[in-house]
This record gives sequence, C-alpha cells and structure tokens, in this order.
Amino acid sequence: MPKPLAIPELTDEVTLSRYPFLPQATGWITKMAMKHEIDLDILLDGEIMERARIRARSRLIDSVDAEDGVDVASIGDIHTEEGRLLEAFSFYYARLVVGASDDERLISRWAQAEAERAQNILTKDLANLENIAKTYITQIKREENGEWKIGLADFVELCIGISGPRWRLPNCEIKDSWVLLHDEDEKYSSSGKLARLLRERMKDEIKNDAISKMNSMDEGLAIRLSEPVGMIRGLVASRTANAISMVGAGKEDWPPCMKKAIAELSQGINVNHFGRVFLAAISRTIGLPPETTIEFFKSAPDYNEGTTTYQVNHLYDREYVPAGCPKLKVNHNCGVKTGDDRLCDQPWMDHPLKYIRAKQRRRSKQNVEKLPANTPYSGDA
Ligand code: SF4
Repeated sequence: MPKPLAIPELTDEVTLSRYPFLPQATGWITKMAMKHEIDLDILLDGEIMERARIRARSRLIDSVDAEDGVDVASIGDIHTEEGRLLEAFSFYYARLVVGASDDERLISRWAQAEAERAQNILTKDLANLENIAKTYITQIKREENGEWKIGLADFVELCIGISGPRWRLPNCEIKDSWVLLHDEDEKYSSSGKLARLLRERMKDEIKNDAISKMNSMDEGLAIRLSEPVGMIRGLVASRTANAISMVGAGKEDWPPCMKKAIAELSQGINVNHFGRVFLAAISRTIGLPPETTIEFFKSAPDYNEGTTTYQVNHLYDREYVPAGCPKLKVNHNCGVKTGDDRLCDQPWMDHPLKYIRAKQRRRSKQNVEKLPANTPYSGDA
C-alpha cells in the first residue's frame, strides 16, 4: 500500500507523547532529549529516567499479559512536560528492550500491544483521528454525515490481518472504489472502524522500526539491556508453558499441526485463518470444551474476547470438521517436515484425526502389554 506522499503537520505535544511512534514525533523527541540532556546513558541508567523505565516495563509486561494491549493510562500527567517525557521515553526504552531481545516474535507481540493501545485511544480521540489517518492512509475522506470512507485498495490491504465478517469485502458497501465505513454500534462506530484499520498500519510501522533497531543494535548495548530482556523473555516462556499444559488429558496424542497452532498463538504469532479454523474444529472434534479452545487464542496478536467467543461458538454449533493433511500442508499449517515425526511420514497419514487414533491405539496396546497375564481383557477379546 503506498504511503501518503505528504503527511499532516502535528505539533501538539500531548498528541505526540500519546502516539510517540508517529513519524511526526521523531523531531519533537529529539528536541526534548536535547533540552533535558537525555542521552543513551541517562535513558538506561539515569535517575531522571527511572520512572520512564518503570513505565516501559509495564508496557512490556502488558504486551504479554494484557488482553487489550498496553494500558492506556500513563503513570504521569501528559499535560505536564514531565508526564510527556515519561510517556515518550518509556516507549523508546521499551523499543530498545525488544530490539535487544533479537526475537522477532517478541517484537511483533509488543508492536501489536502498542498498536492496540493507540487504537483504544484513537477511537475516542476524534480531534486527532483524521490527521493520524492521513499519516498512514492515502485515500481517506469524511462524508457529510460524519462517516468515514476509505479507498478500496487501502481497505483490502489493511483487512488482511483482521478476522470477522464485517471486514470481508462482500459484506461492505462500496461506491466508486470507496469502502463506506458505516456506524454500527458504539464499538463499531465509523470512527471505531477507522481506528481498527489504522491499528494494522501502526502495528507494521512500530514493528518495522523495532526490527531496524534490532538490526543495528551493538553488542554492548544488548548486554546492558539484558536484565529487562531476560524479564520479558521469562514471562513469555511461562505463558507458553501454561498454554501448552492447559489441557492435561490426551495432549500427548495431539498431532504436531495442532500443537504448532497452539504454540504459535500463545507466543503471539499470527496464525492464518485456515489454521485458526482448523484448531477450533479439531478441538471440538476431540471433545475440548469451547472455553478451552477460546483460551488457545488469548495471546493471539488480534485477540478480542467477544469476537473469538462468537467465532469459536459458531464453529462448535456448525460442527466444523478439521481439514486433512494435504490442505493443512498447502496452507502452511502442517507442523512437520519429513523425518520430524514417524507417524506423519507414514504414506497413509492424510488426516490429523488418524494421527490421534494411531497414537491412542499404540498407547493402549502398550498398556495392555504391561498388564499381568491373568488380568481380564488383557488380550484381544
Ligand atoms: S502430516 Fe498431517 S497430522 Fe502430521 S502435522 Fe502435518 S498435517 Fe498434522
């Protein structure tokens, strides 16, 4: 999607500190750093940046723990210069930490949480919505009735990562190559929908900036940031372990494709639509309750409790059956390569449910073999 050739001027310092990732914020932050003599050493160890580092830690923890992005509320008052410094430099510090992690999945997760935070503010920040939209979107206009419309090409590109029927083109009103963002309800007002679309673009920008920091990070700086990096890595690892062990019974029989989808979601990796439907369908088929299946999606980059609950319940109600191996392979959802898993390498293996049955049969055979010879039903009846 082409970026706007010229971006609107934004000089309001409260706005720039609320959205410190905006391209318009770069010059302001540099000026603030010079005015307050904040260099890298001060940011990392200086006393005046202590509160910014604390806020950065909570931004990072929220990106792993919170269900709706980083906490919107700053710990300072952004109507004071001190509060604005705190907000802007906490973002910069958090970005350095994820950059030092050398972990693109962690960066994606953090970018997702920061973008979600910005979306939550923007939905209500109508005074800045238009300028921020025009920073990222080429074709955006407001109708006389106050509703927004967005160019078809922009809409299609931004919707790729958003699930839900309202974001599918056949369900939208299109007029002269513009997609009309109609008001629906409080959450999906026209402005709310625009903010949701913007989140996708903001997430990409935040992520790309952090990756470029990661690529240019020198060893010495990475070492100085090893403590906060270790903290956030440890948190992610514990959440991943929780997700995998959440359902004790039978998980040793789950096929690699199912484990892959669960593990990726729990690490905040965006599993594609086919993989998500497969995970919900196989969970239903093997008897997991919908609540457990919903849990699997809780760390997904675009997790929304209402939408996920609706979609999982819909799949359960309609009794979707999981796709077979050929389709999972074509859609990049197979969990193995040749040699990784002997069962998956079998020529007859064409469905994950066959994998589960084969595992169960093999285990029950092993259990029977372990039984004493005089135990009833110890052999085939
Ligand atoms: S071969 Fe089939 S069962 Fe095995 S991981 Fe791939 S899709 Fe799943």
